[in-house]
Amino acid sequence: MYATTQRCVFCGTEYPLTHRGSCTRCAGPGEESALHETLAVQYDVAALKRQLDREELARRPSGLWRYRELLPVVDPAFCIDLGAGGTRLVPLTRISEAVEGLKLLMKVEGSNPTGSFKDRPIGVASSVALEQGARGLACLTSGNIGSAMAAVAAKAGVSALVLLLGAAGLADQGASVNVEKYVQISAYGAKVVTPIGNLGHLYVLADRIEAELGWSFLHNVQAYQSDGDKTTAFEICEQLGWQAPAAVFVPTGTGTNLFGLWQGFVLFKELGFIDTLPRMFAVQPVGAASLVAAWEAHQAIPAVLERIEPNLAPPISHRVGGYHAYKAMQESGGGAVAVADGDLLAALKDLAAYEGIYAELASAAALAGIRRALALGLLETEETRQVGIVGILTSHGLKNSLALTQVFSPPPKVEGTWEAVRSYLELKR
Ligand SMILES: [Zn+2]
Repeated sequence: MYATTQRCVFCGTEYPLTHRGSCTRCAGPGEESALHETLAVQYDVAALKRQLDREELARRPSGLWRYRELLPVVDPAFCIDLGAGGTRLVPLTRISEAVEGLKLLMKVEGSNPTGSFKDRPIGVASSVALEQGARGLACLTSGNIGSAMAAVAAKAGVSALVLLLGAAGLADQGASVNVEKYVQISAYGAKVVTPIGNLGHLYVLADRIEAELGWSFLHNVQAYQSDGDKTTAFEICEQLGWQAPAAVFVPTGTGTNLFGLWQGFVLFKELGFIDTLPRMFAVQPVGAASLVAAWEAHQAIPAVLERIEPNLAPPISHRVGGYHAYKAMQESGGGAVAVADGDLLAALKDLAAYEGIYAELASAAALAGIRRALALGLLETEETRQVGIVGILTSHGLKNSLALTQVFSPPPKVEGTWEAVRSYLELKR
């Protein structure tokens, strides 16, 4: 095992790998703060360099555990394998920007086993939790984390409890739960409740459940979640012929995925597997864009938003983004952009109708964000036409189709005759 410690990216304090929760010097108990998301797993890079090279990696089957030395699980018996990772990196060819010569590629994370990128961070964090002795798994989620965790728990043969929020951070505002995600989580056999209470109360409840039952609440192993997200960056580099893209656009709520991607690129560069690093851009919904506000106002630490304005992307609507993601944006020379509901819908439709990729609306923020950055002049010509820009399509459209019934009205009833169908097609031309 090459993982050594957990280190706070804000204050530098080191913790043993068995430490649970946030940095105790930076994060207050039970509060929502950018400093709750600061711990990162450290690796013995010198030892890894002696052990691992590009040729060895390239020989292995694709997927999460292809990178086992770069992940924090000691005993392979605890590496739960549902087939996560190994997703396609698709060059766009038919949307207007691609036709005009821009080099845009999408990492299609919706093809992971439970339909979202969460199979990577939750696969790794759950494996670590079980290796450290957890007797069950629990989480607080608006859906995708719950599906990923419930599937892993099913395969590992342990109990799972999902506290399902109406929309992230809106537990006490009466938002309705996502039906598709609830059904999927239930099918895997997890117990699901919709908790009443604000996030502060729920974190206290989470700690109590851990203490009483000996289960692991996955937000208490945050560093191991972003460690799983690193594998997305590893795959992108390999798929580009051992090169990093010029920029990566990530639909961003708390920012754990963006930070994990950044750690992955940095580790590959430290190992000498790639020569350059990409600029990291967070994409957030208008009305829930704490990282955009922080970046534009040069805040030292992203401030907590007083409230979230309603939007069509609940999975990435949080009152605050993590400091770890903010630092990654800054260190990489990237930034953050906000996109409106109309931009998300246009991106979703274009990806589906021109490229054959059906992504969840929050995921379409990747393309919407690239378009926003182009409009704002944040990307250089060399980046967009030669090196290439990658968007992370975080989850599958089937995760939330019911939300689009206002956009795609029910199909018209048409007589089953050639004349009737011909007139319908002419009408639609
Ligand atoms: Zn700290």
